[in-house]
Amino acid sequence: MKSIFVAIALIVSLGYFFYKVVTLARLILLGKPENRFDQLGKRTWMMIRNAIFQLANFKRPKGDILYAGIMHFMIFWGFMILLLGEIEILVGGLVHGFTFKFLGYPLYNLFVFSQDLMAAAVLVAMIMSFARRFIEHPKKLNYHFGSYLILGLITGLMLTLFAMNISNGVNPEEPVSKVVNWMFFSSTYIKLFHVTNPLSPVTFQVIWWLHVLMLLFFLDFIPNSKHLHLLGAIPNNFFLNITDKTMQLQPINFEAEGVETFGVAKFEELTWKQLLDGAACTECGRCTDDCPAANTGKILSPREVVLNIKENMKANGPKILKLQKGEKLPDEQRVPLIADDAEGEKRMAFKKEHPNEHNTATSISPQELWACTTCGACQAICPVANEHIRDIIDMRRYLVMTESKMPQELSATFRNNDTNGNPWGLGADARLDWAEGLGLKTMAEQPDPDILFWVGCAGAYDDRNKKIAVAFVKLMQAANVKFSVLGTEETCCGDWVRRAGNEYAFQTLAKQNVETLNKYKVKKIVTACPHGYYTLKHDYPEFGGNYEVIHHSQFINQLIKEGRLKPTKPMKKTVTYHDSCYLGRHNNIYAEPRDVVAAVPQVKMVEMKHSHANSFCCGAGGARMWLDEKEGDRINRVRTAEALSLNPDVIATACPFCMTMIDDGVKDKGVEDNVKVLDIAEIVQRSL
Ligand code: SF4
Ligand code: SF4
Repeated sequence: MKSIFVAIALIVSLGYFFYKVVTLARLILLGKPENRFDQLGKRTWMMIRNAIFQLANFKRPKGDILYAGIMHFMIFWGFMILLLGEIEILVGGLVHGFTFKFLGYPLYNLFVFSQDLMAAAVLVAMIMSFARRFIEHPKKLNYHFGSYLILGLITGLMLTLFAMNISNGVNPEEPVSKVVNWMFFSSTYIKLFHVTNPLSPVTFQVIWWLHVLMLLFFLDFIPNSKHLHLLGAIPNNFFLNITDKTMQLQPINFEAEGVETFGVAKFEELTWKQLLDGAACTECGRCTDDCPAANTGKILSPREVVLNIKENMKANGPKILKLQKGEKLPDEQRVPLIADDAEGEKRMAFKKEHPNEHNTATSISPQELWACTTCGACQAICPVANEHIRDIIDMRRYLVMTESKMPQELSATFRNNDTNGNPWGLGADARLDWAEGLGLKTMAEQPDPDILFWVGCAGAYDDRNKKIAVAFVKLMQAANVKFSVLGTEETCCGDWVRRAGNEYAFQTLAKQNVETLNKYKVKKIVTACPHGYYTLKHDYPEFGGNYEVIHHSQFINQLIKEGRLKPTKPMKKTVTYHDSCYLGRHNNIYAEPRDVVAAVPQVKMVEMKHSHANSFCCGAGGARMWLDEKEGDRINRVRTAEALSLNPDVIATACPFCMTMIDDGVKDKGVEDNVKVLDIAEIVQRSL
C-alpha cells in the first residue's frame, strides 16, 4: 500500500516539476537567438570552477560575502551528496527494504558517513542563514515569505533525516545499525542522550512521510521561487560571457527590411541568455549592494532589473505560448516591460518612504534605466555571471530610437554631437585648438607614426582635460615618441552614445572613424580616455576597425620601464588613485596607473576602501556625464568624500570623466586649495 502512495506522490510531484521546467525552458527559448556555444572546453571549465567548485561565490571573500559563500558552499555540496540518500529513501518507499547496502560495506560505510556529515553541514548552514537574516539583517537580502519557507523546509528535511538516522542507528533490524559509528553526528547524539530504542513504527512512518512530502514540496517549489537558481545558475555559468568585451550588446542592422522598432520593449526581444539570467539569479543582492546608483538613493537596483524581466516573462510568456503560429500577442493583453514615467515617479516616491523595500514588479521604469552608469560593479560581483548592463542598454535603445523618449539634457547633447561631432557642441574645426604651439603633426602631415594619439572629445574641448592632453603630449615628446593625431579628422568615438542607447548615431560615428583610421592604415592607438579605449578596442572590430589600443597609463608605464621617461623630482605627497570603471572593471587595468604614480620619488600611495574591482564609480559613465542627477546623493560627492577621508594631498585619476566628477566633488567640498585632482600624466610631468 505504501508503495502505491509513494508512487502516486512521486508521479504527481515529478510530473508537476517537469511540466514547470519544460514551460520555463519554452519561455526562455522565446528569446532571440544568441551564440553561446563556442569554446566548449573553456565554458565547461568555467561552469565547474564557478558553479560546481562554487568559486564564484567567493569573489571578494571578506565579511558577509565570505560568510554567505561558506554557507552556500555547505548547502550546495550538502544537497549534491544528500541527493543520493534521498534516492535511497524514495526507492526504499517504492521497494520495501531497499538500501544501498548492496554496494558492499566499505562503500556503504562511506555513503553513510557522507550523508550524516552533509546533513550536519546543511543544518549548520541553516543556523548561519537564520542568524544572518535575524541578527545581521543585511539590507541587500530579500525578506519575502518564500525565503523563510525554503529555509524552514531545508531545516525540516535535515531534522527529520537525523531523526530517522538516529532511530535506524539503534534498530538492529536496520543495516545502518551495523555501521552506526560511521555516522559521526548521529552516533554522538545516540551516545550523549543514551538513545537505546528506535522510534515506534507509527512515529517513524509519520516522520518518514513528513520528510518525503517536504522533499517533494520543495522540489515543486523550486521553479516557483528564488531557488529556481538551482536549475539556472549552473547553465548560466556555462553560457557566461567568456570574451574580454564586458558588454555584449545585441547587433542591430538598420538596413534590414521590415524592422519597425529598435531596442527592447518586450521580454522576447531579449536573447534567450538574457532571459536565462533571471532564472539563474539567487537574489543574493550583491549586485545592488555594489551599485553606485542604488547606494546613493536612486531607484535602480540591478537585481530588480533581472528579476523584473523574469516576472514580465512569467506574466506574458504563457499567453504567447498559447498563440497559434504567426499570431502575435496584442499590446493591450500584454504587461509592458518598460513602465511609463508616472509609474517611475510613484516608485521613486515609494523608495523615499521605504528605502529598503525591494520591488517585485513586472516592469522597469525609465528612471531606473537612466540611473545606470554602466560601471560594471553588478556584473563583476554576480556569482551566476548575469549581465545586467546590456539589458539596460537594450531598453534605453527602445526609448531613444523607437520612442524618442529620453531626458531633455540628453537629447540636447545628442544634437550637439550630431552637429559638431562632440558632446560639448563646440566647433568641429576647433578640435586641435588645444594643441596650439605644441608642434603636433596630424596623420595627414605624418602618416607613418609609431603610434596614433586618439585625443578624444574631452581632451580636445574640455578646459580641464585639455591640460591633461598637453601633459601627455609633453611626456611623449620627452620620450621621443613618434606620434601623430587625427586633428579635425577625429570625431566623437561614440562610447557614451552607444551606452545611451543611440545605436544608430553610434554606428554612424564608428563607421566614420573606422574609415578614417583605415585610410591611414593605423595599427596602434594610444588614448588617455578609458571610454574611448573601450570603444576603439572592443566595439570598433564590429565595423572593421582592428587596432592595438593602449591606454596612456600603460603607455607611460612602458616608457618609464624602458627608461625613456625618468621621473626624478620628488613629490612628497599622499596620493590616492581612483579606479576608472572603464579602465579597471571593464578592461582589467589596475596595476599600470598605480605603477606610474609610484614611479615618482617620495610619493606615498594610499588605497580607498573601494578600489580595484571593488571601486566605486565617479558617476559619469553610461552617458550619465550629460544627465542631471536629481535623485538621492550625487555619486561623485560620495566617491570624493571617500577619497578625502584618507586626507590625501592628491587624488589621481586616469580618465577625463573621472577627472571632471572628482574635481567637481573636491570643489563642492571647498577643499580645492588643499587637495589637487591630477591625472597620472600630469603627476609624471611634474616630476620630470
Ligand atoms: S552597471 Fe553600475 S550603475 Fe549600472 S546597474 Fe550595474 S552597478 Fe548599477
Ligand atoms: S543578479 Fe547576481 S548578484 Fe544580483 S542578486 Fe542575482 S545572483 Fe545576486
